[in-house]
Amino acid sequence: MTKDDSAIIERSMCEEDPNGNSLSQAEQTDSAPRWGSQHAGAKELAAGYTPAKRVQETLCLAAAICLMAVNGAYLAARFDPSNWFGVLVGALAGILTADFFSGLVHWGADTWGSVDIPVLGKAFLRPFREHHIDPTAITRHDFIETNGDNFAVCVPVLAYMTARLMSADQAAIQAEYNWLAYLYMLILFVSLTNQFHKWSHTYFGLPWYINALQAMHLILPKRHHRIHHVSPHETYFCITTGWLNYPLELIGFWTTLEYWIEKTTGAKPRSDDMNWASKRE
Ligand SMILES: [Zn+2]
Ligand SMILES: [Zn+2]
Repeated sequence: MTKDDSAIIERSMCEEDPNGNSLSQAEQTDSAPRWGSQHAGAKELAAGYTPAKRVQETLCLAAAICLMAVNGAYLAARFDPSNWFGVLVGALAGILTADFFSGLVHWGADTWGSVDIPVLGKAFLRPFREHHIDPTAITRHDFIETNGDNFAVCVPVLAYMTARLMSADQAAIQAEYNWLAYLYMLILFVSLTNQFHKWSHTYFGLPWYINALQAMHLILPKRHHRIHHVSPHETYFCITTGWLNYPLELIGFWTTLEYWIEKTTGAKPRSDDMNWASKRE
């Protein structure tokens, strides 16, 4: 079910008004905030970002950026202009795959599991819970906190690509060039997913070219992503470009998946997310 404007206004946080001058009726009648940085759950979740996690993120980011630069230079040097169409198809498929993965991971983390699960809960699920009750917190995260996790998962694939590009001969590289272009764009867009996501929550001070990319829907637009932020956060999970949100919504992809998982395991979708949302001091 796609959300209309009144659902967006009443059931999601008003992000374009940082002074809180446009509180909806639902917010005013509550004694404690329903969302935002003063929400009890948001404060507890934000405190879970540890110095050890920060070090891990910094190291992974540095490694990923170095490998991206090396792979990009190798691919550019071996590009054959007569094969432009194959490369274009590979690159587009890579972007679509990244968008699908962003939806799958986001849906999985939003819908299942709990912050109390050992290791995984605090390191992986915590930011997703925090994001629903304080969506603009992401705009206060710096580049490392925003992008650390996504760059980290790309390091093994980037290392594989570097090894392949450095060891294979010219003929072998040409033969698998479209596949390598696919992989490179997949990695690039997976890495930048949370940056695109952060920009979709940034209503002030964005450079004109980022606003232009959003307006052309080449990256996740603000209005499009706002549909996910309508409680209970059950649709529009793709956050790289958001292109796949339309077809997945049309075929009821997430609803069907949830139906079968609940039927076979008995687990209730979004139960942990709802618990955090209703936390009061
Ligand atoms: Zn979400
Ligand atoms: Zn968001």
